[in-house]
Amino acid sequence: MGELQVKFWGVRGSIPVPGPATVKYGGNTSCLELISDEPERIIFDAGTGLRVLGDSLDLSKKHDIHLLISHPHWDHINGFPFFTPIYIPGNRVTVYGPSTFELTMEEVINGQMKYSYFPVRTAELSADLSFKEIKAEEFDIGKFHIRTHILNHPVTCLGYRISYNGKEFAYLGDNEPYYNVFNDDDPEVVQVTGEMNEQLVQFVSGLDVLVSDSQYTPAEYPSHRGWGHSTTHHVVNMALKAGVKKLFFFHHEPQRSDEELDLLVYHYNERVRARGFTMEIDAAREGVAFPV
Ligand SMILES: [Zn+2]
Ligand SMILES: [Zn+2]
Repeated sequence: MGELQVKFWGVRGSIPVPGPATVKYGGNTSCLELISDEPERIIFDAGTGLRVLGDSLDLSKKHDIHLLISHPHWDHINGFPFFTPIYIPGNRVTVYGPSTFELTMEEVINGQMKYSYFPVRTAELSADLSFKEIKAEEFDIGKFHIRTHILNHPVTCLGYRISYNGKEFAYLGDNEPYYNVFNDDDPEVVQVTGEMNEQLVQFVSGLDVLVSDSQYTPAEYPSHRGWGHSTTHHVVNMALKAGVKKLFFFHHEPQRSDEELDLLVYHYNERVRARGFTMEIDAAREGVAFPV
């Protein structure tokens, strides 16, 4: 009783990539779930993995679903219209997320379900659907205590840290470490970006499990700088600094094959072990639940 697990339903960044090269880790976009004995279902992001999650539920029962969205980019919301529980009366679905530019999360979700894009509007859904606008703050869902942190991405993107029954878990959706965009050595900028990156280290300090965007390898990063994503190097260093026990690479680059992910996991575990650390590293894999 009181145990916590994380289950991955969609692990890709950007776009779904079904096919023979992604059979092991999966090809759906961002969606993961915390599994516990509590009556509330805690789900992060509504990528295409959300469809599979919805279809795995016992739909003859009522569900109290709390959907925590990191940000409104397509790969984090495009499974929502295909999430079967929203069509069934008696289900309660609460969607949390940040406003970004001119739009609230409610307007984003409703916008995706206008007739131009989809045949059913949110107003026609049978579940009891509600929205909660959140920013950097703390709140509770049942016995889950939740803290959020604003990440570095082209739109407002929230990281979520959950405390539950002595376990600490965090999910960092799309995030790039802060850097000096002018590429000079202005000491003031170096100091400010350093402090902002340090704040994120504090946010994830002492976690049992961290799931983090690690879309690029260091070799791929220079041509994607400013796109709002981390490298495997960035997140391993951040997690080591923060004393994280287990790190999952997440938001895998669409082109990344199963074989390449296996190699990355092997390579980083070897390197970390050689430096005397005990942190475990794995790559998020669809359909598999891991203990927190
Ligand atoms: Zn994304
Ligand atoms: Zn994004």
